[in-house]
Amino acid sequence: MQEEKDKCPFLIWRKTRWNRFTLPVLLGCIEGEGLAEHFRILIAGSVEEILQKVETEKALIGFSFMTPHLLQVQEEVERLRRSLGKEAILIAGGSHATGDPEGTVRLGFDFVFAGEAEKPFPDFLRQFLQNKLPGTAILTGDKGSCLFTTNPPFSLQERFFAPMELTRGCLYSCGFCQTPRIFGHILRHRDPPSIGRHLERALPYGYHQSAFLSPNAFSYGATGLQEPNLAAIEALLTACRQAGVGGIHFGCYPSEVRPDWVNPEVLHLVKKYCLNKTIVLGAQSGSNSLLGKLNRAHSAEQALQASCWIHQAGFMPHVDFVFGFPEETQEDRQLSLALMKKMIEEHGAKVHVHTYLPLPGTPLFWKEPSRLDDGTKNALRHWAEKRKLDGWWEEQEVMAWKIVEWRDQGLIGTQIHPVDVYYLTG
Ligand code: SF4
Repeated sequence: MQEEKDKCPFLIWRKTRWNRFTLPVLLGCIEGEGLAEHFRILIAGSVEEILQKVETEKALIGFSFMTPHLLQVQEEVERLRRSLGKEAILIAGGSHATGDPEGTVRLGFDFVFAGEAEKPFPDFLRQFLQNKLPGTAILTGDKGSCLFTTNPPFSLQERFFAPMELTRGCLYSCGFCQTPRIFGHILRHRDPPSIGRHLERALPYGYHQSAFLSPNAFSYGATGLQEPNLAAIEALLTACRQAGVGGIHFGCYPSEVRPDWVNPEVLHLVKKYCLNKTIVLGAQSGSNSLLGKLNRAHSAEQALQASCWIHQAGFMPHVDFVFGFPEETQEDRQLSLALMKKMIEEHGAKVHVHTYLPLPGTPLFWKEPSRLDDGTKNALRHWAEKRKLDGWWEEQEVMAWKIVEWRDQGLIGTQIHPVDVYYLTG
């Protein structure tokens, strides 16, 4: 048996701390499709580890990465190509590859998966096993497919787990966000019985804490712009409890919530079933004018109300804000700082601050970020010193301008230049 396995081709994943939620989903997909037994699967933490394992034989080597890690990936691809030549078939997927597939091919990848991989990736693996690789380098997924809900959400075989992906797709079109560009606008949810089954199977492997991945946890079970579907959320949380999972976490990282989906009833459910002490809320800005330009489809007042309800329900609001958006004015920043202060002082909130990153495939990508003024930076540092603010906004500010530089050098962003769609309206 082992001898047979040793003859199988390598399928290697380059694991980083930034793709640790993605790789278990891909592995689950391969296992669900019955393909895992045809490969020697290796999860590699470095290029050195890959080179130690693979010398001359054919190997598929997969990367899934985000735009900030572009240069590191480019360097690793060059090293693998130098050492392994054409025996290595380098494949890429993930948010950067989806936002800029042509640029990703130019980094040196042989095949790039743009969008959801549940259909094209197993097809590709079957073609590889039959020595019939596709002639085209960019393979696109089927936005809106429900395939992700039928595959295992993580890999029992590799004992590689991640928060379970609950929902794909987003009803909104925020101008800075890649999610709806990758997954589309149709909400697809993994159903409670299947969640319960997967949790039961994972329990013997030590998976006792269940956390979830969702673009907006309180939209679980919903199909359109509406109130939270309380029956669906309760069915989900009951299924987790019945599966024997001890610690259920919902509405906190990485399953944050939008302000307009928060109400006392849904918070009551979270309180009843879950262990999390915080609810992560995406406010993003305190300026209604900027929120409108970003196409957020909620107001600063709704964010304040949501923070108040979260506090009243006995949770700490942990509120996301972003600074440095294109066309952001001094007044917009003042409004964000004022909203943060109110939430901190009145609701015991903590804020999580980001600097805007221009990401390929989004309507705002070709616009210049705005530079944070010293007054804003000092105010953010003040709250950080008081331990009321966290986040890597200073590192992200540096990264934002690096991405602009890469974009202007032509390293990313070779798709049709969306000059007239900076801000979407629907
Ligand atoms: S920021 Fe959130 S609500 Fe807006 S498009 Fe992205 S996932 Fe959807």
